[in-house]
Amino acid sequence: MSTQNRELKMVTSGIPASDGDGVKLTRVIGSPQLNMLDPFLLFDAFESDQAEDYIGGFPSHPHRGFETVTYLLAGQMRHKDNAGHEGVIEPGGVQWMSAAKGIVHSEMPEQKDGLLMGFQLWVNLPAAEKMGEPEYQEFPANKIALEQRENGTEVRVISGTTNYGTTGPVINRHTQPIYMDISLAKGQSFEQRIDLDGNTFIFVIDGELSVGSRKEKLSKRQLGVLHEGNSVYVNADVESRFLLASAKPLNEAVARGGPFVMNTKAEVLQAFEDFQSNRI
Ligand code: FE
Repeated sequence: MSTQNRELKMVTSGIPASDGDGVKLTRVIGSPQLNMLDPFLLFDAFESDQAEDYIGGFPSHPHRGFETVTYLLAGQMRHKDNAGHEGVIEPGGVQWMSAAKGIVHSEMPEQKDGLLMGFQLWVNLPAAEKMGEPEYQEFPANKIALEQRENGTEVRVISGTTNYGTTGPVINRHTQPIYMDISLAKGQSFEQRIDLDGNTFIFVIDGELSVGSRKEKLSKRQLGVLHEGNSVYVNADVESRFLLASAKPLNEAVARGGPFVMNTKAEVLQAFEDFQSNRI
């Protein structure tokens, strides 16, 4: 099959938002501009060295029906759930949590000052899996697959396989996601084979990229949704770092109710009821 580079379809910078107990963040997916990118329901970026922006953290709250993926670049976050699962996510570490039928947890900064920077991505579950058992896939930085290429390119693979065969530790049978953190020196390019119909986005952590054959620009803190194609191709105009995410769409009805994402409104109401009567 010939290579069809994915071109830039739309660009969004998200909206400033506050969640948990006053944590300041940028909501890039799950915003009025980009409500979702099936199966991605939400993408938040947070970055601050001002304690008041994050110190409140995310006290006890439930989730049902999807997966939360926390990837931290700076700082520490402690998570603790109602099943006794507890740990600290450190820089470069990932927590891929499948809330499925339900988890109540807190996510709190494990620091009083300094920089806290990271991302939370929500990945939807298919109807048949929404009431399955919760599950964690947690990896510290040294367990994230690192591919170092001769031209200085570094690819941290959380999930999926690079063109050179490096495979990330996270497994997701439902939407077979690719989630990678890529660093490029100025002038270098990056190519990644991808499912033709997977929904794909790039978020620029730092620098500036030219995307696809048309070389349209994507700047720092912008998220670009890509058109269909079987290859992602970007060039770094300056030294750059970006996240690449892609997954198979579920093409199912989505009913959202805050921390619950189900297929119908009735199922969301049931989730609120279950939470209120301690059944989550
Ligand atoms: Fe949460």
